Amino acid sequence: MTQEGLPIIISAPSGAGKTTLCQALRKRLPDLNFSVSHTTRAPRKNEQDGVDYHYISKEKFLEMVDNGEFLEWAKIHGNYYGTSRKNIEDTLQKGKDLVLELDVQGVEALRTLKYQGVFIFVLPPSMEELEKRLAGRGTEPDNQIKQRLEVGKKEIAKSHLYDYAVTNVNIDESVETILSIIRAEKKRMNRYQPDCPEIRKIIESGNS
Ligand code: 5GP
Repeated sequence: MTQEGLPIIISAPSGAGKTTLCQALRKRLPDLNFSVSHTTRAPRKNEQDGVDYHYISKEKFLEMVDNGEFLEWAKIHGNYYGTSRKNIEDTLQKGKDLVLELDVQGVEALRTLKYQGVFIFVLPPSMEELEKRLAGRGTEPDNQIKQRLEVGKKEIAKSHLYDYAVTNVNIDESVETILSIIRAEKKRMNRYQPDCPEIRKIIESGNS
């Protein structure tokens, strides 16, 4: 029997460095799978359909919502984002670990469903630093930076939804921390499936 893969849910307030962190994580663990969400937002420069997101129309998105195709979905900054149930189940059933980059609303939805996974929140070292990073990336006008900071504060107030907090001071260190979290989570006794049939039998005999 293949052991199911581990869903690793990662969120962060806008500007905390989640995208860069996940890119570094991808390089460090090339076999790690990343869930590709569906979205109604337009692709940014350098983004690819089917790689960064599945870019679909609002009509198609709402049709998928009606058909129950999303495990969770959310409206974020005016656009819809959703995680396709089928895509993630296919990956996890093959025993592959899977990173889901979700916003806090998505995590709230998964917690309500009592979804089993490891929930990691990436935090900035300070609000001042978060503002500096948002301004520094130059992708949002000033009024949107203020708005994102306000949303960020509300998200940080929901930190209790997560299992782990990673303060992102330095990308390399944060990647190492996330790798340690993943390694430890995979060693949890409730996920342990020994290769040795004899040991498996002995463990099972103790459970009954
Ligand atoms: P962006 O437009 O910058 O790529 O993403 C905006 C936010 O949407 C990020 O916080 C990202 O993690 C989140 N997001 C991406 N895909 C999904 C999804 O399928 N569900 C939810 N709830 N959030 C998502």
